[in-house]
Amino acid sequence: MEQIAISYHFGKEEFHIIASAELVPTVEAVIRSLIPNAQFGTGRLLQAQAAWEGEGTLTVQVDLDGLSWNYRDLEILDPRYNEFDRERRIKERVRMGTQRVLEQTFNLAPSPWGILLGVRPTKLVHSLLDRGFSPEEVVTQLETVYGLSEEKIELILPVVIKQRKYFHSSPNQPVSIYVGIPFCPTRCSYCSFAAYPLGSHGHLLPGFLQGLKLEIAAMGRLLDELGVEVETIYLGGGTPTTVQGADLEELLNLIREYLVTPTTCEFTVEAGRPETLTRETMHILRNAKVDRISINPQTMHQATLDRIGRQHSVEQVYTAYDLAREVGIPIINMDIILGLPGEKWEHVEETLRQIAILQPDNLTVHSLAIKRASRLKQEAKEIQIAQEEGEAMANLAKKFASTWGMSPYYLYRQRYILGDLENIGYAKPSLESRYNIQMMEERQTIIALGGGGITKLVAPDLSLVRLANPKCPATYSQQIFGDLEAKIDQIRKHLLV
Ligand code: SF4
Repeated sequence: MEQIAISYHFGKEEFHIIASAELVPTVEAVIRSLIPNAQFGTGRLLQAQAAWEGEGTLTVQVDLDGLSWNYRDLEILDPRYNEFDRERRIKERVRMGTQRVLEQTFNLAPSPWGILLGVRPTKLVHSLLDRGFSPEEVVTQLETVYGLSEEKIELILPVVIKQRKYFHSSPNQPVSIYVGIPFCPTRCSYCSFAAYPLGSHGHLLPGFLQGLKLEIAAMGRLLDELGVEVETIYLGGGTPTTVQGADLEELLNLIREYLVTPTTCEFTVEAGRPETLTRETMHILRNAKVDRISINPQTMHQATLDRIGRQHSVEQVYTAYDLAREVGIPIINMDIILGLPGEKWEHVEETLRQIAILQPDNLTVHSLAIKRASRLKQEAKEIQIAQEEGEAMANLAKKFASTWGMSPYYLYRQRYILGDLENIGYAKPSLESRYNIQMMEERQTIIALGGGGITKLVAPDLSLVRLANPKCPATYSQQIFGDLEAKIDQIRKHLLV
């Protein structure tokens, strides 16, 4: 049978797993990542076992339907590995073995990301460099332990090396701030964020802003009391520029008053939807010294914009961009999405050609995640085309970005992402968004205010505690008055350690 170039199997396979209690979730996770509709209990027998030998080597065996994958790991004897790494290695090898027997059994193409199932593959590379492995040794490990393709290794390593110069010796000095504004003009069809349409939820905005102002002031006072500096501030959502006029001015001034410190070097507003970007709004952003905004076309094809519910025109993207340059916003990012409904390679090429005229400083290339409930249930052939096209589109975006002098500086993955790809942020030299790096790599405490914000308290050993604000603006404005004191106390305790 001809090998098809996709890494998923859509059948309803059943598996009976025999493994130690610690390994069963690992095996199940690998199966689900390749066979989303898999069931567990009875069915094909999959057996996984691991054992340490006398001299400290690890042996792993995974069996499925008469196929056997065996490995004797000598690399783990390297003294730079600690007990935690040795425990983790058992699961990594079992993941590799399970993946390999499934690939053979169901005729699947190996994922270019190997056994890295998580959202943040860069974190692994950072942890290897932290342990003292050289970049050359990391390349070998990515290939042999984690099964990454050459292309992904060439992508990930320079990104990680670029990011490391932005890390600080303490995760809590300085910190960064996220402010979530969970409103949008309309809701895009693919949206998975906290985004309430202004038309139906606009009446909640005044109460939401009242709560947010309280939270900003309280957090600012805490940081001031503790002498904690703020490196970056990021307004996201939603679309923060759905807040307009005097409300926006007051909000940004409050942020400047309470949250900007001498160390603050980046103030981003995810302006997002171009129809919110009037001349007045642009002046308000510039007067508040916002130095980075996103104007996100997603595509420069009107028919697609209409189809995905954006309700703005291509012309409005151009107008907003020109206004941003005219008022002197220093850094402009543009987001595009590969794989939007009805879009082929030619559409992406045309979008990139139009963006080339504008010359933004950053370009963020998202690949559409294939929704489990819908597209994964369709024919494998269709997904195969999507995978191949996705890869070609991503290569095209990379080529355009590189001709504009940009290179990748952060990346992350999603489950069932088009073409088994990744989302990549490109930037011109020295114009990388520090917030994006800190948020993605989780090496800095990010204090989140507003709707849907998730605070990440990072300890010196890089362990994390998350605190979530309600997404719904009505719930947020009802709860924030009662919850704020406890949140401030918890953050205070964390920052004092
Ligand atoms: S603009 Fe962004 S946040 Fe708002 S609805 Fe569309 S995808 Fe969601």
